[in-house]
Amino acid sequence: MNVREYAAELLKQIEAIPVVDSHEHLVPEAEHIDSNIDVLSLIDHYTSDDLRAVGCPPEVAEKIVDPKGEIAPRWELLEPYWPKIRNGSYARMWTRTLKDLFDCQEVSAAALAEATEKMRQANQPGWYKQVLKDRCNISVCILDQGSLTDCDCELFVPVIHATQFIEARTKQQVEELSATTDHPLHCLDDLVSAAQGYISHVRAEGAVALKVAVAYQRTLQFDKVTRADAERLFNRIFDHLGEGLSWAEAKPLQDYILHKCVQAAMENDMTIIFHTGLQAGGQNIVTNTDPTLLTNLFLEYKQARFDLFHAGYPYTRECGVLAKYFPNVWADLAWVHIISAAGTRQILADWLDLVPANKIIGFGGDVRHVELVYGHLYEARRNIAEVLAERVARGDDTEEEALRIAQFLLHDSPVEAFKLSV
Ligand SMILES: [Zn+2]
Repeated sequence: MNVREYAAELLKQIEAIPVVDSHEHLVPEAEHIDSNIDVLSLIDHYTSDDLRAVGCPPEVAEKIVDPKGEIAPRWELLEPYWPKIRNGSYARMWTRTLKDLFDCQEVSAAALAEATEKMRQANQPGWYKQVLKDRCNISVCILDQGSLTDCDCELFVPVIHATQFIEARTKQQVEELSATTDHPLHCLDDLVSAAQGYISHVRAEGAVALKVAVAYQRTLQFDKVTRADAERLFNRIFDHLGEGLSWAEAKPLQDYILHKCVQAAMENDMTIIFHTGLQAGGQNIVTNTDPTLLTNLFLEYKQARFDLFHAGYPYTRECGVLAKYFPNVWADLAWVHIISAAGTRQILADWLDLVPANKIIGFGGDVRHVELVYGHLYEARRNIAEVLAERVARGDDTEEEALRIAQFLLHDSPVEAFKLSV
């Protein structure tokens, strides 16, 4: 048996491991059903990023994914771009999903219309359970719905964003935050206690983690800032008509609040997730997202648990080293299998020689549409099986040891990182 054949054997055993999915953005099932989305709408997460990368105008991309239009004219819009983007892992997740869930064997107007019929018939109450449990063998997903904790607890555990407290830098944002937290915000201490109250509140509602996604807008370097410096900046938000601070001016205030949020997460026994690496949508500053910028937090908050999303891609070696250095840091492959499948195999091969297996989280779908979780997990399991098969072929692991690693990646590591009881 060659390595490829052995990987296929191993894959069957890996499929039997129930998966703890570290990251999804799924909308509530009722909303998914009401949206009447079709197979072309599915490319908005994330194949449309590659459409933009080849110069497809945003208004054309919007028409392609809009389920209100017919399939045939929308496919005509996509067709000229398709040969350029079909090689990518994003596109492969999409075609795999269509193939296995809706028996769609080719990408053409007729086949896509037929698959849409099947997708709409399937899209009934119970569809989420059918995809996530029956087709994917997922035991639970960590669900990111921004500030919502309400979710189907048979399938999901919520994570909540702290970004709104860190990013507030105009009077309007402060007022909105005051309204949503039902907390008067007239001084820095008010903002800190609103954040603390919010974090305790969402914890009581079942949130297991706090997510920080500010790497889309600024650097992940969070310096130690004095209260006096932060207070001076907070008060300046109210100058003139409340236009507030620029991102650059607001940085020390944001740094101060982030430290307070980390402390509150720690006190509430919640994991802190950082978006590190590649930013969805592209056209951003990737150097802001280097996870090594967070090192001072790992050194200071030894009792906190940190999950580094997206393997810090392209800072993947750095991410692995951080998980190796610090007992409270996990390296998470959420989203990465579809950023680049081949890249993920290289990262995982590297990490498995570098990082303890219980520090690597092997799968997070990171999609809005439940159907795509299937296509993404298909790729993820294949990557894991191929990397492990190679290790067994080299004599580095026995088959039993390889399967134990898979159990860590897909189940035990996220259970430990998020202190789940599954
Ligand atoms: Zn995400």
